[in-house]
Amino acid sequence: MPQSRFRAIEGTRDYYGKEGDRFDRVIGFAADLFRKYGYARLRTPIFENPELFARSIGRATDIVEKEMYTFTPGSDSVTLRPEGTAGAVRAYLQHGMDKTGGLVKFWYEGPMFRRERPQKGRQRQFHQIGVEAIGSPDPLLDAEIISLGLRYYEYAGVPGAGLRLNSIGCPREECRPAYRRLLHEAVRPDIEKFCPNCRSRIDRNILRLFDCKVPGCRELARNLPKSHEHLCPECSGHFDAVCEAVRALGGAFTIDSSLVRGLDYYTKTVFEYTHDALGSQNAIGGGGRYDGLVEELGGNPTPGAGFALGIERILIAMETAGGCACACPLQVFGVAMGGSARRAMAGMLARFRAAGFSADMDYGERSFKAQLRLANRRGAMCCLILGGNELERGEILVKNMADGGGQETVALADCLGNVRKLLPC
Ligand code: AMP
Repeated sequence: MPQSRFRAIEGTRDYYGKEGDRFDRVIGFAADLFRKYGYARLRTPIFENPELFARSIGRATDIVEKEMYTFTPGSDSVTLRPEGTAGAVRAYLQHGMDKTGGLVKFWYEGPMFRRERPQKGRQRQFHQIGVEAIGSPDPLLDAEIISLGLRYYEYAGVPGAGLRLNSIGCPREECRPAYRRLLHEAVRPDIEKFCPNCRSRIDRNILRLFDCKVPGCRELARNLPKSHEHLCPECSGHFDAVCEAVRALGGAFTIDSSLVRGLDYYTKTVFEYTHDALGSQNAIGGGGRYDGLVEELGGNPTPGAGFALGIERILIAMETAGGCACACPLQVFGVAMGGSARRAMAGMLARFRAAGFSADMDYGERSFKAQLRLANRRGAMCCLILGGNELERGEILVKNMADGGGQETVALADCLGNVRKLLPC
């Protein structure tokens, strides 16, 4: 058999078949649920000015330092977006949405690009769905966003998501800068015990010490001062209010002082969703508040908050949970023998689709048995069987494909109503 030498590039992949369907559903669930919370769809380009990401995510972050795909095709460089928040805030400012004076809520989905080492649950082109709410400092908004993520996982058929919560304070002198100084002092006596990567981070971005996976560094980090215990009064009050509101909305969480997140734009609340199905890459989503970002990108000081959920990791968690709880196999498969029956079947399926059923048929002239095999392979819940004789009599055979399901000959005109009784649409 000839084989093409072309393969998807390392760290990228195709989605097709059942997984392709699930991918679509993951997005469909988001569209459905996020709209109920007042989020409107935002689409931004997949490439932007590199400076946008350097300014927002932060120059001393792994993403900006080593993971961005930046090209200079002509005289200007472009970067494939590594995340969605920077582009959303850029769009918010570019289109004057900051002038509306109210809260602006977006949701988005799409591919993101980071040059990371590929492994299970970690790709170079991956996909996120996310929300951004710009224009309010209210801790109730943080809580709404956090609980929306939890609701989403339940809604999409991924129960059992965990929630870690922390606050990393604000840029006020007595808040994060003071905490950073405290960390420097605490680290100094043990500096030689940290790994070379951590040692290089100490001066550039000391909070990132908490991200290190080296067991020795994790042990050392465990004994360092905790950010949420060294907040300024305003951030401390905000954090308490967020925790209380998340609890009131029914969300269970743990406060995790090692959660700092890898993007510089976060202020105050940071959070991460986890799932046991994922092993070492157990973060299935995360987010936080970014009260300085709009100003950093040239707007007036405007608070905001959001999250991004990783679609690949949702798919892995779904698979482990036994497939998408709401996965919907093909409902109706048309088996037709002969030209006029095939044409009649095409018309019949159009009526089923218009009535909201998923319906399909074989568009080759395969034998009756081969068509039935195909119906089974497609997971069809019900088959409509039509030959020349049935067509002449104005009848069709409706076969319930469930184990032990029977079959019944009905008038063509009654077919839709008959199947409706059989399958809840
Ligand atoms: P982040 O923007 O890093 O906070 O990521 C938010 C979520 O996106 C993570 O919790 C993951 O679920 C997902 N994610 C981030 N990076 C990758 C990647 N390289 N491959 C697959 N999913 C990712």
